[in-house]
Amino acid sequence: MKHSFTVIKNESPKAKPDPSALKFGETFTDHMFLMEYTKEKGWHDGRIVPYGPLSISPAATCLHYGQEMFEGLKAYKTKDGKVQLFRPVMNARRTNVTNQRMCIPTIDEELYVEAIKAVVDMDRDWIPDQEGTSLYVRPFIIGDSPVLGVKPAAHYLFGIILCPVGPYYANGLAPTKIYVEEEYVRAVPGGTGFAKIGGNYAAALKSQEKAHEKGYDQVLWLDGVERKYVEEIGTSNAFFVIDDEVITAPLAGTILPGITRDSVLALLKEWGMKVSERKLTIQEVFQAAKDGSLQEVFATGTAAVISPVGELSWVDQKAIIHDNQIGELSQKLYDTLYGIQTGKIADDKGWIVSVE
Ligand SMILES: *Cc1c(COP(=O)(O)O)cnc(C)c1O
Repeated sequence: MKHSFTVIKNESPKAKPDPSALKFGETFTDHMFLMEYTKEKGWHDGRIVPYGPLSISPAATCLHYGQEMFEGLKAYKTKDGKVQLFRPVMNARRTNVTNQRMCIPTIDEELYVEAIKAVVDMDRDWIPDQEGTSLYVRPFIIGDSPVLGVKPAAHYLFGIILCPVGPYYANGLAPTKIYVEEEYVRAVPGGTGFAKIGGNYAAALKSQEKAHEKGYDQVLWLDGVERKYVEEIGTSNAFFVIDDEVITAPLAGTILPGITRDSVLALLKEWGMKVSERKLTIQEVFQAAKDGSLQEVFATGTAAVISPVGELSWVDQKAIIHDNQIGELSQKLYDTLYGIQTGKIADDKGWIVSVE
């Protein structure tokens, strides 16, 4: 490694959780990574310290004006005990795209990936190896200048925390029920839809809560201007298979450029399937459901990898997809991606970065 980090070991490590009862994001490991930014020193003082509370000013920029960002990726333990990350360089790159939009200083990609490797290596004993489990890695940055003026912070804190996780949805790969959101919007052109920031999530909570109250797992977002085109499912990218064409929204500023999305597109192209990154109206989706040409719908994201959709509800219409069973393509994509991530399938694409 090119960069070196100070290490302060946790002298009172916690007991590891029962790997068969892991809930998403509730248990954290013994250590975390922290690093600071000032204009004079740039990013500096990278360190691994015991996991614990942060101390920031009550006037910190992030608390009042939401200047923060985050990322998400996973570390997996292979059958022979090796630890590997899935496409971490993409997270580093996407962080810098988000940072530029949020007036947060960018971070050297190599430094970023080395920090992830170092803290994952430190807590490698925390990585579960049961089917469907992994170590979720959450890098984040907050602007934390102790000043209330509305302007970009002068001081930033970069952190990486880790949690052992089981399958994202309690019922694993079971198809989800999705509510098409027609009241609220997630993103508009010129906004922050492509950036991975808490603000987008805060603005979406209301809609998610409404969907839950109505008995749905998640929402399908339509574009914020015409409310016509399908964009994302909750905090995942959305794919529709109609008449053997796999369709997903184009990267035009209002959707998050998912790394799982990118990997799915690469696999589908390799398998010789017809794939289109194009606008698709919700009308077309329901028409296809009616005439029988809607074959599968699924969401993609690091947390769940592939999540099949079994039911869509839009105003007064309902569509049942693939008989409310997981489709062949969703299953094949899940098996392939999860297989590569966990080392069961050889990686011929340079997607895997091992943690030595
Ligand atoms: C993180 C995220 C995704 C999925 O991205 P991955 O890199 O595949 O995990 C999709 N949509 C939103 C809004 C996200 O925040």
